[in-house]
Amino acid sequence: MANDQSRRRQQEPARRPGDTGRGAPADRPRQDRAFRCPVAARCGGCQLSHMPYAEQLALKQKRVEELLHGLCPVAPILGMSQPLHYRNKVHAVLAVDKRGLPVSGVYAMGTHRVVPVQHCLIEDERADRIIQTIVSMLPRYKLRVYNEYTHRGFLRHVVIRTGHVTGQIMVVLVATSLSFPGGRDFVRELVERHPEITTVVLNENSRQTSVVLGTRETVLYGDGFMEDSLCGKVFRISPQSFYQVNARQCEVLYRTAIDMAGLTGKETLLDAYCGTGTIGLCAADHIERLIGVELNADAVRDARENARRNGVENATFLCEDAGRFMVRMAREGFRPDVVLMDPPRAGSDEPFLRSLLTLAPERIVYVSCNPETLARDLRILVRGGYRAEKAVPVDMFPFTEHVETVVLLGGKK
Ligand code: SAH
Repeated sequence: MANDQSRRRQQEPARRPGDTGRGAPADRPRQDRAFRCPVAARCGGCQLSHMPYAEQLALKQKRVEELLHGLCPVAPILGMSQPLHYRNKVHAVLAVDKRGLPVSGVYAMGTHRVVPVQHCLIEDERADRIIQTIVSMLPRYKLRVYNEYTHRGFLRHVVIRTGHVTGQIMVVLVATSLSFPGGRDFVRELVERHPEITTVVLNENSRQTSVVLGTRETVLYGDGFMEDSLCGKVFRISPQSFYQVNARQCEVLYRTAIDMAGLTGKETLLDAYCGTGTIGLCAADHIERLIGVELNADAVRDARENARRNGVENATFLCEDAGRFMVRMAREGFRPDVVLMDPPRAGSDEPFLRSLLTLAPERIVYVSCNPETLARDLRILVRGGYRAEKAVPVDMFPFTEHVETVVLLGGKK
């Protein structure tokens, strides 16, 4: 789930005869055909852009079935009905072209050369339009693009995040300084041209680094954060917060995981590797008590704030290594009824899995973004007496090779 892959941007397919421009039928998904992207090879974000969507789904299904063969039955993959423009977080790198004019795009794979991109198949289209407006405004405001070889210039990146339910849009301008000459007029014009923008933040990053965001920021317009909703709960998203990049499909994933957990309202649920608490909080109305554990202190702070914001009173979030926490719990005889685990790509670790077998919850719901480490961890749990009852692949990242899988384990002997 931690996937923030396919961050790179990709171009839209060439228009077909009769298309009238943006919003025309060509922009709607055509699942029966592939979408040719002229920069796919250089961008590298969408490994499957040459494949019709139905074929992409079949490929992902087959991969999960092969990896879980003999371990767990696999249900049909849950794909998207509208698989284009799903990314709610769009990152554009700024550079200048040969004529010295500003352009935005992605780093060519494995390099720091910028491939200019104006439209991308998988990114939010409103975000792409705002980026184009910003690029077109730079010369008039005499704003210089940062040059990473000379370390001169002002604006480095634009990051845009959009709310799929609220429609709110946060624009983050990443620059070498928080002093922005002409900033007030620039933002006024930008918001006039895009009234859909709800907040603009200036982030300072003057270091020689490939990390996009710096730590200092100032709010130029609006509240400095945005809100979006998942499964009826509201989440606050700051420039630095982690949030699922495909929120529509994230709801499908969470609902699947929560359904599979078979909650009756009486359970103590442990949400391990909980991030900002989103899955557990979406389940909070169906359980007695929620405990979340997460290593990243900022995410834990967001999780607590998210609980407060949603009036969830039965939740506790702890900042600790999940494996160490489980060992402690096993020693103290704490026994959750259901453990929901959503580890990073590397999967879980031995102390966690060993303690999980000792705690022996009635049900385990394993949410995985890497079927290889999932298969490895499932083998340990099955050997320890669990039955892997069902796996459901979910396509969170259309056009990329990544696949998410939810597995239900129960019936420990
Ligand atoms: N469940 C969340 C986030 C899952 S991403 C969601 O749906 O949004 C995986 C999370 O595991 C990340 O937030 C990462 O910080 C956390 N993590 C990684 N290693 C960890 C560890 N050893 N112990 C606890 N959390 C860990």
